[in-house]
Amino acid sequence: MAAHSAVLSMSKIFNPFWGGRFGNTVKVFGTTLTSHRNRSSRNPPPAKYGGRHTVTLIPGDGIGPDLLNHVREVFRFSCVPVDFEVVHVNSADESEDDINNAIMAIRRNGVALKGNIETIHTMAPSVKSRNNLLRTNLDLYANVMHCQSLPAVQTRHKNIDIMIIRENTEGEYSSLEHESVSGVVECLKIITRTNSLRIADYAFKLAREKGRSRVTAVHKANIMKLGDGLFLQCCREVASGYPDITFDSMIVDNTTMQLVSKPQQFDVMVMPNLYGNVVSNVCAGLVGGPGLVPGANYGLNYAVFETATRNTGKSIAGKNIANPTAMLLAGCMMLDHLKLYDYATMIRNAILSTMNETRLHTADIGGQGTTSEVVQSIMRNIQSKGPLISER
Ligand code: ATP
Repeated sequence: MAAHSAVLSMSKIFNPFWGGRFGNTVKVFGTTLTSHRNRSSRNPPPAKYGGRHTVTLIPGDGIGPDLLNHVREVFRFSCVPVDFEVVHVNSADESEDDINNAIMAIRRNGVALKGNIETIHTMAPSVKSRNNLLRTNLDLYANVMHCQSLPAVQTRHKNIDIMIIRENTEGEYSSLEHESVSGVVECLKIITRTNSLRIADYAFKLAREKGRSRVTAVHKANIMKLGDGLFLQCCREVASGYPDITFDSMIVDNTTMQLVSKPQQFDVMVMPNLYGNVVSNVCAGLVGGPGLVPGANYGLNYAVFETATRNTGKSIAGKNIANPTAMLLAGCMMLDHLKLYDYATMIRNAILSTMNETRLHTADIGGQGTTSEVVQSIMRNIQSKGPLISER
């Protein structure tokens, strides 16, 4: 803790990083590291008040508040022109006031960074997942994660490079359930043509933008002939407009088996909500675990960033052992979205350098470092690269 404070106070003494500098072109964790040509065409909210952006920050539960404090610390250290509006959501509160306030704040700011809000299973069935309410209310229909092998992280499989596009607002997450007669519960899975077409289109557009060659739709249309059948049909229709990209499909059970035995065969994957939940956790596990992979939720008007596997990590909260990588990288994805590319690249490169060169790791990936030691190392790396010149 003392060392941690030391770096913070050093940040006041060292030259601040005004503006940006050109980033290295490392092809890890996606968007900005490889090419600035391929940036999303989606417009972020305009910067306000002297070029600074205001972003909603929802600490969430478990390790969320600590990890987001580290993101703020790194951003402050790097003089990132982002101010956070912190909105707390109390997961033990049955009323929806908190989550409605958070949603209103995101509507105002356009962008959010969040920890996972715990869904307490023992609360009444009418109390819906706050995370889910947020995604559906803001129509964040596309969840995107990029799982890529990291050279310094020991895993069974190497050379994994998979982009997962998950439908994020319907499917099995409708929260439409009822007990029609005692002992018989119906849970509705909603698949619409409109949403299936737009998620498929999102996947193919992203595949083309990133120079990917294959999109695989994951489904269970052999059993859910109408629901998953519609999803698959929409994927096929969209695929016909992308003759440069190979399209295929795979049943979800086979997909998980193929993933754990030969994950390198996958390129871009698109799927309904629940399969996306399972597949994204499998893929995160394949590249080293939930502490490493960031995720993003995009809609037409808003974007919300968080860790890809959306863990609360309650059992490791407050112990200074959580891996800060996924949340810091989520912060970098957010900076890309705000078109603060040079800041994103600078922080991302420092994270990867701490992981791959300094090899300072937390316990989840076999190291002995604490969360704050990793964060300090990242800030030292940022410092060592010298001041930024200009943000383009
Ligand atoms: P709990 O929330 O009590 O940890 P859980 O089963 O709900 O239990 P999740 O939050 O889903 O756990 O997390 C799954 C596992 O991943 C847990 O063992 C958790 O400690 C671990 N985990 C999640 N995030 C991180 C992280 N950033 N660093 C290290 N381990 C993590």
